[in-house]
Amino acid sequence: MKLFLTYFCPFFILFQSCSKDSSTTSTSNSNGNTPTNPVVSNTVPDVYKKIYGASSITSDGTYITIKSIGLPDHKSPYYATTNALYEAYTGTTFGGNIFQKNPNSIAEKAYTFKIPLDPKVASTHAATPLGAIGVSLNGVPFYNQYAGPNQPLTNEIVSFDRYYGHPAPSNAYHYHVEPLYLTTVKVTKSALLGFLLDGFPVYGPEENGATIDNTKLDAYHGHVSVTADFPNGLYHYHITSTDPYLNGSGYYGTPGTISQ
Ligand SMILES: [Zn+2]
Ligand SMILES: [Zn+2]
Repeated sequence: MKLFLTYFCPFFILFQSCSKDSSTTSTSNSNGNTPTNPVVSNTVPDVYKKIYGASSITSDGTYITIKSIGLPDHKSPYYATTNALYEAYTGTTFGGNIFQKNPNSIAEKAYTFKIPLDPKVASTHAATPLGAIGVSLNGVPFYNQYAGPNQPLTNEIVSFDRYYGHPAPSNAYHYHVEPLYLTTVKVTKSALLGFLLDGFPVYGPEENGATIDNTKLDAYHGHVSVTADFPNGLYHYHITSTDPYLNGSGYYGTPGTISQ
């Protein structure tokens, strides 16, 4: 079968991705920014295909590998003024603060998230690191609730753009809190928003018509229940409006790897 695929691949490559070995060239829009239509290998379960901003999504049967260049597909004052997705700041800041732009700007990255296909609870829960801890639907990484080692986000919140993201000093754009473009434009507040590196999914701040707050979640900021994507029930994280927003004291499962 492998020989068959290898032989015939060139004939099909114009129409679909043939295998995980095929080229993982991302397609960009006319701005040269946002990847669309990720190259997806045919062994990838449908739920991962919701990560529409990925440049490729493949599976080796044990891990799902998601590649992304990390550029938001929405407007931001952190894009260069020459970019079609630049906008001057508008909107209401997280927590009602007065917006203060940070000195960083949005730059393309080369993320490879390798996450377990069949996530399991870990016997010891690894702390989430600074930097990317997971990937959202548009390919932008999730970060945890800290601005630096043991530093709360307090002083950073003012620099979130109207979709609640901002770039780091490395110019990596990221979300610490609810990614408003996803929850209010692309999907809904109760939808799947992405995955953390341990393979467990991330959901928005609502479930069954009710807002989820931290009291409904465990120390890792998740719980087990049925979701639209996992009708048999699965552990999942929720984003809430208060610290730690997305992740609590570590990953619930064993994290995969990330290169960034
Ligand atoms: Zn940040
Ligand atoms: Zn839930």
